[in-house]
Amino acid sequence: MKPASFEYHRPASIGEALKLLAEHRAEAKLISGGQSLVPMMNMRLASPAHLIDINDLSELAGVKKRGDLIEIGTLTRHHEVASSSLAAAHCPLVSQAASTIGHYAIRQRGTLGGSLAHADPAAQMSLVARTLDARITLASHAGERELASVEFFEGAMTTAIRPDEMIVRVGFPIQQPGERSAFKLFSRRHGDYAIVSVALVVGMQEGRVARLQLGVGGASPVPIRLDRALDDFLGKVPDAGWVESMALASYHAITPEESTRIPAIYRKELTQTLVSQALNELLAEQEMEPA
Ligand SMILES: Cc1cc2nc3c(=O)[nH]c(=O)nc-3n(C[C@H](O)[C@H](O)[C@H](O)COP(=O)(O)OP(=O)(O)OC[C@H]3O[C@@H](n4cnc5c(N)ncnc54)[C@H](O)[C@@H]3O)c2cc1C
Repeated sequence: MKPASFEYHRPASIGEALKLLAEHRAEAKLISGGQSLVPMMNMRLASPAHLIDINDLSELAGVKKRGDLIEIGTLTRHHEVASSSLAAAHCPLVSQAASTIGHYAIRQRGTLGGSLAHADPAAQMSLVARTLDARITLASHAGERELASVEFFEGAMTTAIRPDEMIVRVGFPIQQPGERSAFKLFSRRHGDYAIVSVALVVGMQEGRVARLQLGVGGASPVPIRLDRALDDFLGKVPDAGWVESMALASYHAITPEESTRIPAIYRKELTQTLVSQALNELLAEQEMEPA
């Protein structure tokens, strides 16, 4: 199918893009990588009267370190995030997750901001943003506001972005000394959206677990953090029993919706397996470290 007709705009500045958004509001859609929006327009699931192409706004792309954050511009392609040495050094979970998105061609065009705005429940970058408590900066003609990821994702394909706003950048807290991270996903075919994915940060202090951040994607309309289920696992020296119990706790902590295609129990068991794999990977890395 072909998209419904629309007026195409290609602003040369952020100010111009924001002016167009303020003028056309819900009648307009931004296009960045086009990897999700173009198929939706072709299927007429989206029919914006105005398409605002932000691909000339190069100031919206790039990875920077600013204080305790790795700041990534909205227009940064997934492959740039995946290959950024700055992200790998200070926020490895972000680059690890970006490298698993779709296929190479999709990573060449798809952008961080486009992925967060699209808000697919199984999207890698949404899960990492939620797990790390990323800060998402939105701009409108009235100025900027910053949202925590927990406020940003409101439901499946639904976010707190107002019709006159655009994402401009995302701040991910940098990894602290003693912290390690792992990202695991399962999809039926290579390159497909994950059925379930998990993102994990474990912070160690004097051989004991001092900090845990565990996020699960694909098991609910928005990615979730399993904070309450993890309290019992803090302060412990991690071993095989600890791994097994925490993986089981993650099984009990999630309540996926029943579906005829993918039963809830399947997502629960997948979560348990992926959490176990992620924890074992981190434990093995720790054992390999010189004392
Ligand atoms: C075959 C295929 C497989 C894929 N597999 C995966 C996968 O495994 N994991 C995954 O996470 N994704 C996957 N994707 C999606 C891909 O990651 C997209 O890049 C992403 O979802 C959307 O990013 P985009 O830059 O292409 O956005 P676009 O398609 O341009 O836009 C998507 C939405 O975001 C809005 N938008 C864009 N930029 C902004 C902004 N700055 N501020 C506010 N709103 C904005 C648009 O208006 C639109 O509503 C896949 C896509 C395809 C086609």
